[in-house]
Amino acid sequence: MHRGTIAEINLQAISENLKTVKKIAKNSKIIGVVKADAYGHGSVEVAHRLTQDGVDYLSVAFSEEAIKLREAGIKIPIIILFDPDPKDIIYYNLTPVIIDQKSAINLSKEAQRRNKKIKVHIKIDTGMGRVGLVADEIKDIAKIANLKGLEIVGVMSHFSDSDAEDNSFALTQIERFKAIRDNLLNIGLNVNIYHMANSAAIISLPQSHFDAVRPGLILYGVSPFNGLSPSQQKTSQEISLIQAMTIKTKLISLRKLPSGTPISYSKTFITKRQSLIGVMAAGYADGFLRIFSNNSHVLVRGLRVPVVGRVCMDLTMIDLTDIAHLVSDEDEVVIMGRQGNEFISASELAHKAGTISYEILTSLGQMATKRVYKH
Ligand SMILES: *Cc1c(COP(=O)(O)O)cnc(C)c1O
Repeated sequence: MHRGTIAEINLQAISENLKTVKKIAKNSKIIGVVKADAYGHGSVEVAHRLTQDGVDYLSVAFSEEAIKLREAGIKIPIIILFDPDPKDIIYYNLTPVIIDQKSAINLSKEAQRRNKKIKVHIKIDTGMGRVGLVADEIKDIAKIANLKGLEIVGVMSHFSDSDAEDNSFALTQIERFKAIRDNLLNIGLNVNIYHMANSAAIISLPQSHFDAVRPGLILYGVSPFNGLSPSQQKTSQEISLIQAMTIKTKLISLRKLPSGTPISYSKTFITKRQSLIGVMAAGYADGFLRIFSNNSHVLVRGLRVPVVGRVCMDLTMIDLTDIAHLVSDEDEVVIMGRQGNEFISASELAHKAGTISYEILTSLGQMATKRVYKH
């Protein structure tokens, strides 16, 4: 038996979610975000699928991730969000995002040395407070435009809280971005695409769509609205996303235990009746977080059963007593995803863990021992 969990990735779901994004952002190009190994789904397979489905660009965090895609035969433009190192950009024909003057100068030098032109995007920090030129550095964009060997093809910004119920700060960011666009138009700088919207903004702020949108999370079929206020719930329901990732494992033992038996480290759960306890082959080393101890469910035979006791490194115990008559030791356990009529979403697990679904996907998806693709 191999260790731990299997991540089953439904590529058809990703295709459907892309169609949904295209419907919502009709007039914008699509930049498919496949950083962090496509949020744990496997960047090569996801990139092939998105390319096949006509996505216009891909985007990753660091050039190493882009090189992996180029080596796997991905030909479309790949935007590197955060890697200022110019060395691989030309060789692999990658599109860097300039986050400050220094990275611009380095790229320009490299382009001149190799006698090439590098297409670049410029990042504007309109309020995210992470990377990018701040609004009063606008004159610096003109300077960058004059650097030899660089061609500015895109200008972008990123939202701080486009998923918030109160969208006032997001609207401020949009206004700042528009002001910069108008300034650049005034000084005669023509740029192919202005882009700003991540998943939450794609859904809730149509005025942020500009020339291109950058969906990540919704391509994987997960709602970006964690808090799910009533209005966000409504939007989420209207937009039918299909979660692409299912996480499964097996039972390694079924145990009949008497009432009063402590389960797992530190005796945090003690059986209150004669019980059937299943031991599943997944623990925090597989991305099934320890905070799920006594605090979440898994699916067996299409039914919800509780996790009991502490999650261990490789194993977790589940209480099968209520469905004992149905269970066999061959049964599959679904940790996240659909089984029969039941469904455990990334959002549900995120809520239980006090985190966001992004972290659930990257943990479970990256740490799964094996990925299996459904086409
Ligand atoms: C990760 C990321 C995205 C995608 O965000 P989602 O919320 O997953 O849609 C878009 N733009 C930038 C700059 C990012 O870092």
